Formats: sequence, structure tokens, C-alpha cells
Amino acid sequence: MQTIIVDLFSDTKTRPTAAMRAAMAAAEVGDERAGEDPTVLELEARGQALLGKEAALYLPSGTMCNEIAMAVHCRPGEAVLCEKDAHIIGFEAGGAAALAGVMLEPIIGQRGMFDANTLRRYLRADHLQAPRQRLLEVEQTTNLGGGAVWSLAQLDEVAELAHQAGLATHMDGARLFNAVVASGVAAAEQAAGFDSVWVDFSKGLGAPGGALLAGSGDFIHEARRWQIRIGGAMRQSGIIAAACLHALDHHLHGLVADHRRARQLAEGLARLPGLRIDPDSVATNLIYFTIDAPQWDAKKLAAATLEHGVRLCPMGSRRMRAVTHLDVDDAGIERALQVLGKVLAG
Ligand SMILES: *Cc1c(COP(=O)(O)O)cnc(C)c1O
Repeated sequence: MQTIIVDLFSDTKTRPTAAMRAAMAAAEVGDERAGEDPTVLELEARGQALLGKEAALYLPSGTMCNEIAMAVHCRPGEAVLCEKDAHIIGFEAGGAAALAGVMLEPIIGQRGMFDANTLRRYLRADHLQAPRQRLLEVEQTTNLGGGAVWSLAQLDEVAELAHQAGLATHMDGARLFNAVVASGVAAAEQAAGFDSVWVDFSKGLGAPGGALLAGSGDFIHEARRWQIRIGGAMRQSGIIAAACLHALDHHLHGLVADHRRARQLAEGLARLPGLRIDPDSVATNLIYFTIDAPQWDAKKLAAATLEHGVRLCPMGSRRMRAVTHLDVDDAGIERALQVLGKVLAG
């Protein structure tokens, strides 16, 4: 394997810092499944307040948050409405069907988002022949949609319409804190229209794992049942939760720098012949660009830059993704641009 010097593949590639590891080593722990881990309980209390809900539950991953939320909100045979590029469609190994037994009805939006007028076209009256629509799901920020940020007005209007139609609402907030930093709107405010919401600690916040799912007391009670059912209850998991608390205290502000670097990278990419990107489309830490140079495709270009220590993420034949995070500094952005320039120039 080549030595990776600048890893722009994903914001999941961060390693715990020395200070984070020290916080983990010092964590007070107990039996989480029995409700006895003080560090997990502290994290759940912090998360519940941050997300503005009655209760919160610490889970091993964001994927498990999505899967449990669908299982709690829906009965088998019902339908979940989400944008066509949603993580729950393409990146959760069919869990929606296998675990919750639900159908996913894709909405064709823009950059992973849609407005109430678009949603209205997908809502239907109860009909014996059609699956019952039970849940609306949105992603904040949109992953495959390019890291775009839903405005508060748009979140509120789709949530309100869904509720009027009798649907519950769920927010996949894998990068909700990126949206908070980009928009200045508090997480609780963004999540206010949603019956359930979760945030990830293993993306831009740089923890080794864990996510917080929040909702009403009844919702979290049922979520705990599902957590145990699918083996998501851990024991002395305060060791990992301590990393999440450390991230909340020390890494939120770092997202500002991630967004600035993403913008710098996008502007640099726009100047390179053979690549196409609109830097204005980069709102947070995800950068998607297109390869126009006919002699290159995404896989080939990623392999070539990797030879020089720069890892990128091919997304289809000509689309490429780069992601900024805690472990990429200004020098890393410069190096990535230098390497890409050199490789493309042949
Ligand atoms: C990463 C991601 C998930 C899954 O989170 P994990 O913690 O990796 O399981 C879900 N939704 C979106 C939008 C993501 O980017």
C-alpha cells in the first residue's frame, strides 16, 4: 500500500488525537446496556439538549440510527419518502428492507434536497393498493447531493407538510454540525420539525465511532428495544463516548476551517485544465468535481494521485469526491492541488 499523505477520501478517515485518546483513557465507565455507564449517560444528556428533544440514545453508528428510526416509525410494508441519493437507499446494505421491512420511495430533488411543492407531488391519499406512506426522511447536509445545506425554511416547510399528511419525520444528521457551522442555525432549531434526528461523531468531529439518536421519550424507549434486538447495546462504551464528548468540546470549531479549506480546494480545482467544478457549489466540507479530460476517468486519476500520496474518492466513472476534515491542513490542500496539477499535465 502506498503511503497516504493527504487523505481526502472521506471525513471518516480521521484518527483520534492524543488529547482525545487521553480523555478516552480517563473515562469513567460502567455497563452501558444496564444504563450504568456515566460517560454515555452524560453524552446522551448533552446530545438531548443540543438536539432539542426529550431523550437521546448513544448508538455505535449513524447507519444503526437510521435503521432503528425506520423500524420504530414504520411497520413492515409501509413506505419511507427520501431523496433519490439518500444514504438509506444506496449505502446501508438494504437494511430498510431487511430490518424495518419498509419500501423506500425516492423523490427526485436537487443536490439531495426538495421543497414542499415537490414533496406534495409524491404524497398520496391512503389507497388499499399502495404502500402506506409513513415517514419522510431528509439528510442534513446532503452527502451525495454535494454537502449542500437545507435552509431552515425549507426544512420546516417539508416537515410541516409531511405532518399534515400524517407522516412522521426523520433527519439523517450525519453532518448536521457542518450545517450548523455553515448556516449559523442551531442544531435544535434545524431539527425542531423532525420527530427523530441523529448526529455522527465519526465524521467531521473526528471520534473513532458513535452517533446520537434523539426524539421523544416514547420514541427512544422503542429505539432502545431495537438497539438490544440488533445487538447495538454495548458494555463499557464510555471509552468511546468520552471521545465524542471531547469532540463536542474541542472539535466543533474545526469544522469552520474544514469548510474554508474545502472552498480553497474547489477554487484550485476550478483552475486546473481537465476538471470541472463550480466552487460556489461547495457549501461545507464535501467537494464533488467532474473529470472532463478524455484520457482520464475517476478510478485512473485516483490511482495516479495515490502514487503521490493523495487519496481521492472516485464516485462513478467521471465524478470524484474530496472531503476535508480534522487531519487535512492547509499544506495538505496545497499538496493535493500540486499533485493533481502535475498528474493531469502528464
Ligand atoms: C456516513 C453517513 C451515514 C452513516 O453513518 P455511519 O456512522 O458511518 O454508519 C448515514 N448518512 C449519511 C448522510 C452519511 O454521510
